[in-house]
Amino acid sequence: MEQVSSTQVGTAIASSHVCPKCQEVGRVYRSWPRGILENVGLKLLPPYGLYRCHNCNWRGWKVRSNSSPILARLLVAVYLILLVTIVGAAVFFLRRLFPTPTRMP
Ligand SMILES: [Zn+2]
Repeated sequence: MEQVSSTQVGTAIASSHVCPKCQEVGRVYRSWPRGILENVGLKLLPPYGLYRCHNCNWRGWKVRSNSSPILARLLVAVYLILLVTIVGAAVFFLRRLFPTPTRMP
């Protein structure tokens, strides 16, 4: 019988993702981040990872196998609410700082 090491098992679990483009199972592997945006994205969104499909060459963001998809979406929702709040507050204060000029008769 062949011995299976823990790293082989880990690789098998990590590569058991389904590709969202070609639906191939077991051909999606972790991908290195490219550029500052992807690096920042990985830091801000720990439940997500960058993956590449070795079958169709798809590359993108997926929820990690050890993370909860609901918690991952909740985190994105919290970030979106924060973003909308910050933009809304910025617009509010900028309009107070620079009010629209009233027309003189
Ligand atoms: Zn694919």
